[in-house]
Amino acid sequence: MELIYAEATPPGRGGVSVVRLSGENARKVAEDLTGRLEEARKVYLRSVMDGDELLDEGLVMRFDEGNSFTGEPVVELHLHGAPVVVRRVCAALAFRGAREAEAGEFTRRAFLSGRINLSEVEGLGDLLEAETEAQRKLAARSVSGEMGKLVERWRSALIRAGALVEASVDFADEEVPDEVPSEVYDILYDLKDQFDSEILGFQAAERLRMGFEVAVIGPPNAGKSSLINRIAKRDVALVSQTAGTTRDIIEVQLDLKGLAVTLLDTAGLRETNDAIEEMGVDRARQRASFADLRLHLSDTNEVDSLLWQDGDIRVRTKSDLGTKVSDTIAISSVTGSGVDNLLDMIYANLSTRVAGAGLISHERQKRELTDARDAIEDVRSLPPELLAEAIRLAAVSLSRLLGRIGSEEYLDTIFSSFCIGK
Ligand code: GDP
Repeated sequence: MELIYAEATPPGRGGVSVVRLSGENARKVAEDLTGRLEEARKVYLRSVMDGDELLDEGLVMRFDEGNSFTGEPVVELHLHGAPVVVRRVCAALAFRGAREAEAGEFTRRAFLSGRINLSEVEGLGDLLEAETEAQRKLAARSVSGEMGKLVERWRSALIRAGALVEASVDFADEEVPDEVPSEVYDILYDLKDQFDSEILGFQAAERLRMGFEVAVIGPPNAGKSSLINRIAKRDVALVSQTAGTTRDIIEVQLDLKGLAVTLLDTAGLRETNDAIEEMGVDRARQRASFADLRLHLSDTNEVDSLLWQDGDIRVRTKSDLGTKVSDTIAISSVTGSGVDNLLDMIYANLSTRVAGAGLISHERQKRELTDARDAIEDVRSLPPELLAEAIRLAAVSLSRLLGRIGSEEYLDTIFSSFCIGK
């Protein structure tokens, strides 16, 4: 593979900047700048020279083919964290035939050389984007190869079941009764159960990854924007005394004790003759009905029953002005009273939904796994030849899940979201 280089640390000034070099000639090209790097995975303190000119002094280490992130020979140069140093070192590498890596190219090579599978690539992408603790944990499980190992176990079980069926078909030719051994069905039923429970846990895992949506709804002037501002501790939504000013849905991202939550400030929900406002109301209703949870705000006692769903929370606003109502939580966005309680309630509500989260957290993964499950749905009714084919199809879907086959198009999409140097 062509020799590629990139700054692996974020561009700019810092303690150190790491430049990574990967490809067949990595060692030779690096040694031209740093002198001999006798041992792999050993740290050398070296002057980095471009001919006679000293570019920097830094730590250098090399990795052998098969023992590096990309699977290719790799050299890392830990330089002083100065853009001008990085620029000069990169120019020296380019002069020696290396080219700058594209976004995600190091990871792509790691994938192509079989160092990591597609679910690990996805996990790595998730990890780079993770902002909350729950997102980090979920991504770390994918990166660590937990899913890869599980899917490999499933595949081995399928291969065993397939072999047992093939054997029974062979015997059939020799006119021994062509009965499929019961072990085959035991394996397949067990797998189907496991696939089902992973698929069931998908929604929760996806929520962990993407975050929950909580819609703040209620009539105009109920205090929606004020509450959101209070929570966000900054002015994100327009607070105004004229009804119906919040026409667009405003989103506020929150890290709620590790859960990623997007609060949706909906337009004032009320019947209106104004066409634009009506569009806002429709949009708000739709968005609110799809949200994971709705906070029904009111400074009176009304609740929009059309949008009410099980598990929703009624919130009595402006408690500083009036009497408390017993069956709802009362808050004041002016004094802040009750707001922490409300956040606790939201957290309690959402955290019960992530209890069953599985490892599958991407739509693509769910699709492949569902295909595998569907292939072995009705195995009892199948004659041995078709049963063998069904098992083979399920195994193919699992291979696709890990990206062993059919992932080219998808790769371009996923790596385009990576940064250069990753
Ligand atoms: P929205 O239309 O539901 O978004 O309501 P706003 O947040 O714009 O609030 C409407 C009006 O009620 C504004 O004048 C706010 O200052 C006032 N308001 C909101 N929350 C409170 C509260 O907790 N206490 C008091 N006293 N006034 C509030």
